[in-house]
Amino acid sequence: MPWELPRDLDTPALVVDIDVLEANVGAMATDLAARHIALRPHVKTHKSVEIARRQRAAGATGLTVATIGEAEVFADAGFDDLFIAYPIVAGGPKADRLRALLGRAHLRVGVDSRRAAAMLGRALGPHSGLAARIELDSGQHRSGVAPAEAAVVAQACADAGIEVEGVFTHPGHAYGGPGAVAGAAEDEARVLAAGAAALAQAGFDARVRSGGSTPTVRRHLPLTDPGPRSPRARAPVVEQRPGSYVFNDRIQVALGSCTPEGVSLVVAATVVSTAQPGRFVVDAGSKALSSDRVDFLPGFGVVVGAAGRGAAGAAAEPDGPDAVVVRLSEHHGVVETARRRPDIGDVVAVVPNHVCPVVDHFDHYVVVRDGVVVDRWPVDARGRLT
Ligand code: PLP
Repeated sequence: MPWELPRDLDTPALVVDIDVLEANVGAMATDLAARHIALRPHVKTHKSVEIARRQRAAGATGLTVATIGEAEVFADAGFDDLFIAYPIVAGGPKADRLRALLGRAHLRVGVDSRRAAAMLGRALGPHSGLAARIELDSGQHRSGVAPAEAAVVAQACADAGIEVEGVFTHPGHAYGGPGAVAGAAEDEARVLAAGAAALAQAGFDARVRSGGSTPTVRRHLPLTDPGPRSPRARAPVVEQRPGSYVFNDRIQVALGSCTPEGVSLVVAATVVSTAQPGRFVVDAGSKALSSDRVDFLPGFGVVVGAAGRGAAGAAAEPDGPDAVVVRLSEHHGVVETARRRPDIGDVVAVVPNHVCPVVDHFDHYVVVRDGVVVDRWPVDARGRLT
């Protein structure tokens, strides 16, 4: 989609189209509500209180975060139902910070080992109010145990005085390519069902069966209620934690999660060099676009539109999808194109491969509607890695 960018942006800039963003937020909430699945969006993507408020207004039941630092930012902003979907190891200062968070939010954390459960218990004591969700590996082979091991970890949580409320998984192997998505969604449902059954058999609560990734999120589902019992009670997945869907990115388009028109965020970058034939260089390098790449796409991002402000003063023609960012230095993005190159000083819109790390490189969003700046929002939880 050709992007209309405002003039006089200080680049590189993180530009969000508010209408597309709001459409994405609303559509996800509506689709999951129709499927009787709770929405607990992962806010590590946007790290923005403004956007989280919009998600809550649309129906999100709580938020998912990746770190204690992100939880602190959103708790400060009044969000009191938080899931840290990460295997928290409660050593050092993290113990105090978790205790402080428990005073002002309903807090759940991921646990995938007996040792981490014991450390949480030692750090927080019994009856802390902390809830655990046992992390399951559904095929990404990152963190998470096999369903058969879920009860052992749950028992360790119980021994440590931590309430077990269910299981969760992230089917990250959906990012293997367009052909991987359907299988990953099936793995997610199967593993959540098996893990929940293992917990129930051992006498634990398995009411929460939480899945989540943007490529797989819409694949679970009876859309209509086929019988007298609630589909929510029968479905293996009762909660979803998509994150990237608010913005989408080049990978999401390639995986079929959205159309190109569903991308709500670009990095605006200025053309700073055309010295090399067939190429131009923009002022967005790895410190703006991140170096994330995948096997099934060339390069680091794609140029989808331009706002002229070069010597000629005329808008450059939008480049086609063949204008790929083929190489990055820290502050240089080298774009290869077979089409007419923009002029020095033109500002182009780059759709990054993977939006989450890109956002973390910026202090604020430039919010636009119809190409006009309407607001600026801080990236509130930028850099909250701990
Ligand atoms: N849950 C967990 C544990 C994750 O790690 C992620 C993303 O990395 C998500 C949910 C959200 O996935 P996505 O960015 O595909 O929406």
